[in-house]
Amino acid sequence: MARRAVVTGGAGFIGSSLCERLVADGWQVLALDNFCTGRRLNLASLEGHPAFELRSHDVCDPIDIDGPVDAVLHFASPASPFDYLTLPVETLRVGSVATMHLLELARRKGARFLIASTSEIYGDPLEHPQRENYFGNVNSIGPRSVYDEAKRFAEAATMAWHRKHGVDTRIIRIFNTYGPRMKAGDGRVVPAFLSQALRGEALTVFGDGSQTRSFCFVDDLVDGVVRVLERGDAQPYNLGNPAEFTMLELVREIEKLMGTVQCVHMPLPIDDPTRRKPDIARAIGELGWSPLVPLSVGLRRTADGFRTRMAAGQHSAQSGAGG
Ligand code: NAD
Ligand code: UDP
Repeated sequence: MARRAVVTGGAGFIGSSLCERLVADGWQVLALDNFCTGRRLNLASLEGHPAFELRSHDVCDPIDIDGPVDAVLHFASPASPFDYLTLPVETLRVGSVATMHLLELARRKGARFLIASTSEIYGDPLEHPQRENYFGNVNSIGPRSVYDEAKRFAEAATMAWHRKHGVDTRIIRIFNTYGPRMKAGDGRVVPAFLSQALRGEALTVFGDGSQTRSFCFVDDLVDGVVRVLERGDAQPYNLGNPAEFTMLELVREIEKLMGTVQCVHMPLPIDDPTRRKPDIARAIGELGWSPLVPLSVGLRRTADGFRTRMAAGQHSAQSGAGG
């Protein structure tokens, strides 16, 4: 009999790709989403598929699911700074209350539980690159803390249910992931820069653009998630592409793809991490996972997707457009 997975945040950018991958791998998938930042359109390829069901549900409310469940993958959460600063209380709740409900669901069903944590739990890191044993440097009262601390709580809850109730758990710390399904208006740097370049607008570089990020293409990330789910253990795994770029280098990459662009500098957001790069030795060594898609290739695929969606009028100008 096919294994059955519950994917929260299944209508989101990463969650929808994960649902597609699990169905392709032979899983039955139940996606739960309240569409606060996701959209049904992301799951168009699975509509009517016999192995797939999408249910509208806020996972902060407890849920009982009929029948067996083999895995619960908790991806629901606003994820872009624009979204989680707009939805601060919702973000705290989905990282805390919802995580505990879903851990209870996993315990009742004897299912494996996987939490989508984040590189943000390292805050503005004082160690570089970041290894899983680094405890982080988070401002617990800054505006970003609604996301950082919710995810840190989610990790703590996951380990508590593992230790106290023996739930078979996984923690993945996702570093900046991008791909064609992101919303043009979601505020994160790759969709922001690409949609601005496509519209012939100046690229909004925050600060002097010397801050770094390491960008992972979504297909690579999803492959890492599946490997952790199937073969990992309860200790956290960093998943990300270790190739590190300043935001000005990202602008240059976009120029290689789309020709010369103008930039306009805007204030650096409070507590914006200065640098970020995953050490992925654990995922390489234990799971044989490392990202395959270089930034130049992933940006081209993302830009192509954006062009198609813009032409079809499917890109929301604002973040948070649901449904
Ligand atoms: P996204 O906003 O596209 O997806 C999040 C999904 O969760 C959306 O469909 C949203 O509607 C849903 N959701 C939010 N709150 C909910 C609730 N209470 N009940 C039901 N559904 C709810 O973001 P994404 O980039 O796909 O991120 C997915 C997950 O991966 C998040 O948990 C995020 O924290 C994590 N993550 C993403 C990145 C990244 O770079 N994309 C990096 C680190 C961690
Ligand atoms: N950024 C930028 N211009 C934008 C959006 C973001 O320069 O229009 C910068 C932002 O300050 C940060 C980096 O790009 O240093 C990555 O931001 P993003 O919101 O994508 O992710 P996060 O800060 O969560 O890593």
